[in-house]
Amino acid sequence: MFDYLIVGAGFAGSVLAERLARVSNKKVLVIDKRPHIAGNAFDHYNEDGILVHKYGPHIFHTNSKDVFEYLGQFTEWRPYEHRVLASVDGQQVPMPINLDTINKLYGLNLTSFELDAWFESVAEKVDVIKTSEDVVVSKVGRELYDKFFKNYTRKQWGMDPSELDKSVTSRVPTRTNRDDRYFTDTYQAMPLHGFTKMFEKMLDHPNIKIMLNTDYHEIMDFIPFKEMIFTGPVDEYFDFKYGKLPYRSLEFKHETVHKEVFQPVAVVNYPNEQLYTRVTEFKYLTGQQHTKTSLVYEFPRAEGDPYYPVPKAENAELYNKYKKLAEETPNVHFVGRLATYKYYNMDQVVAQALTLHKKLTDKSKVAVAADGVDLLPKAVRAAFNGSSTKIGTHGKN
Ligand SMILES: Cc1cc2nc3c(=O)[nH]c(=O)nc-3n(C[C@H](O)[C@H](O)[C@H](O)COP(=O)(O)OP(=O)(O)OC[C@H]3O[C@@H](n4cnc5c(N)ncnc54)[C@H](O)[C@@H]3O)c2cc1C
Repeated sequence: MFDYLIVGAGFAGSVLAERLARVSNKKVLVIDKRPHIAGNAFDHYNEDGILVHKYGPHIFHTNSKDVFEYLGQFTEWRPYEHRVLASVDGQQVPMPINLDTINKLYGLNLTSFELDAWFESVAEKVDVIKTSEDVVVSKVGRELYDKFFKNYTRKQWGMDPSELDKSVTSRVPTRTNRDDRYFTDTYQAMPLHGFTKMFEKMLDHPNIKIMLNTDYHEIMDFIPFKEMIFTGPVDEYFDFKYGKLPYRSLEFKHETVHKEVFQPVAVVNYPNEQLYTRVTEFKYLTGQQHTKTSLVYEFPRAEGDPYYPVPKAENAELYNKYKKLAEETPNVHFVGRLATYKYYNMDQVVAQALTLHKKLTDKSKVAVAADGVDLLPKAVRAAFNGSSTKIGTHGKN
């Protein structure tokens, strides 16, 4: 009998498998319907021997020392600061918008102080900021909104920014200095030998068994287990009882070209003319030396694998109904981006999984105490009765 059946071998499932096996000495079965571990962070060497990310570029960054040190047990790190350019008006300019972006785009020679005033002069007054459009036009005005955000957001989400929650564009900062790093987190690094190698080390423990190419529906009734950790889509778990939670999907077109370098930075965004949103050149992320170079083009799609929860109020309401069901389901713990219907970065999912592990350990301590002499006051025990996850939140990007 397994102590835990873990559905999904991405960050959420693998961190919990590792902690439960190594720290709590539990017997764990991890299953995934895909033919590999590492979930969306899966990377592999392609036919030309170049390390690529199958599901689009994954860049690790965090402000959490705990998360960084935890993962550091399973990998060495390669320092990497991510840089992005946007292709606008026939030029490639820094994104997020900074001092150089504006000077290059408009042929100006502004200083940081002058740029503040410049933004103020072009910004539109918006009384209550509700939508993604409001966020941008109130900061940088309509012209930059049109050049950098409007079509990009339309492509990415299949909706006009005026229909989308403000959270979508408020993640993208605007800078008046020349800092062209995409992220400003304290820890910015990539696993030296790739994400999949890191996951292999994490899951390498005699208490952990792994089954790939397996949907949990196929084995649920045949393999005995005490508790389940579910990191798949929460609506699927409940047979879409209240309807489907909407997701935006992507199609990835991978390509290898016969030149050493293709573009000046890891990612170039295409806000306007192209059907794809961005092009990534993997060698920047991995530091690999090779005479060829591999790229991925991202085409947003309405149908396909669930990647981005669509941030609209009605979807949050629908999710809340599933969340309630999840909270009422004994011995099943819902964790990760699909099970909690939220776009989380990798570090946030690791933090969420570590928090759940702590809660499970505390809960079993309470159970042990309850078997013998109950050392804890009733109120403390009551706090451990629910089985749903509390989210450990960390810096957003
Ligand atoms: C295009 C893209 C780019 C991203 N870039 C970054 C980035 O640069 N930096 C960053 O920090 N984060 C990034 N992320 C977010 C990152 O992918 C997630 O934070 C991370 O993958 C979440 O891990 P998870 O375990 O919750 O989910 P997943 O990695 O999706 O793992 C869930 C697993 O469950 C499995 N599963 C689902 N249903 C079933 C079932 N019925 N039976 C069995 N198995 C099942 C799936 O196959 C999957 O492997 C990006 C996401 C996307 C989509």
